Amino acid sequence: MSRDHRIHPLFTEQDGELAVAGRTVSRWIAEAGGRTPLFLYDCAVIEAKIADLRAALPKEVGIHYAMKANPMPELVAWMAGQVDGLDVASAGELKVALAAGGDPSHISFAGPGKRDFELELAIGVGATLNIESAREFARAAAIGDRIGKPVRAAVRVNPPFDLKASGMRMGGGAKPFGVDAEQVPALLAEIEAAGADFRGFHVFAGSQNLSAEAIIDAQRKTIDLVADLAEHAAVPPPLVNLGGGFGLPYFPGDQPLDLAAVGAALEKTLAARDPILADTRFVVELGRYLVGECGVYLTRAIDRKMSQHEVFIITDGGLHHQLAASGNFGTVIRRNYPLANASRFGATDAESLNVVGCLCTPLDRLGDKVMLPATEVGDVIAVFMAGAYGFTASPTAFLSHEPPAEMLA
Ligand SMILES: *Cc1c(COP(=O)(O)O)cnc(C)c1O
Repeated sequence: MSRDHRIHPLFTEQDGELAVAGRTVSRWIAEAGGRTPLFLYDCAVIEAKIADLRAALPKEVGIHYAMKANPMPELVAWMAGQVDGLDVASAGELKVALAAGGDPSHISFAGPGKRDFELELAIGVGATLNIESAREFARAAAIGDRIGKPVRAAVRVNPPFDLKASGMRMGGGAKPFGVDAEQVPALLAEIEAAGADFRGFHVFAGSQNLSAEAIIDAQRKTIDLVADLAEHAAVPPPLVNLGGGFGLPYFPGDQPLDLAAVGAALEKTLAARDPILADTRFVVELGRYLVGECGVYLTRAIDRKMSQHEVFIITDGGLHHQLAASGNFGTVIRRNYPLANASRFGATDAESLNVVGCLCTPLDRLGDKVMLPATEVGDVIAVFMAGAYGFTASPTAFLSHEPPAEMLA
């Protein structure tokens, strides 16, 4: 079998099967009570990603985990011990972060529609709010007064630039996220007047980017922008969250991000930064880059049939668990995620197969014309790159099937 470069080298073959963390998938499925579909997450893969990041990024740049990529409580609990902070986007995520042992002084809460009970929970535990509008800050300040707690407030800035060539753009132009740079000085004055604890700035310009050049450019512009805005704050920003956007090669032909180039350029940019940022700490917030490759979605073939000379493998999984692999989550053209026959991981590719899910919709495709070993009913199909935006980013209620099982390996 010629190995797909998108499959992490820590996934190996054992007794002819795919092995995760030293055990075959059939053993993992047995451990899950025989249940498929099963999302399995290998922490060793995340550990390797974090080690690569620490080696590449300048010393003064910390790593935050953006929990929405994968909020599984056990994974977050493991992650809390590895990274420098957790970024949450709802009260639900905040509760998971706190239960995971996350230190509230290293938790920040972003999101354009925070409700009063969410603000109250965050202020109550001392998490940082990434403020998304002047009105939101006024609500937060009133809640802080009512419960007698200081508001720790960072300003999320909608930057006047975007992260070029991103999968999903989140900055530049009119956006629901953050506060336009022109409006930031007035908001900083309100933060000062309210006596809130100013924590710094948050700038998130985009997601899923494979271009080191684009990321370097956005980081440079971000550091220039926050240095200008810092002039209007009562104190220099203690922390600047540079966003992330580091992408993963999901599709054939995608080149991995040149992390070393990003780290080297950031080192230079920071060395030349405006003195107003001299004592500022910096972080990147990453979701998919940390966890995307650690996950494998295991689904069993329940039928095999021919239609018009094409073979279809029908599985017990599908887009209700792994929407992104079906091509219906933020992609324009459907392309295959890396797939394998996990039960015959050592076998030679022998046939072109269409692998589909069990839902009654033509959207439910996991692999179009993929070369796989001869595949039979009962075989387990592995969909790789399933660690981010899988289970919780999929419409699990659609067609009322059972939810998938999830395990840490
Ligand atoms: C979604 C999101 C992230 C994570 O994006 P990835 O592409 O998974 O790294 C980080 N920060 C913010 C503000 C987000 O909305």
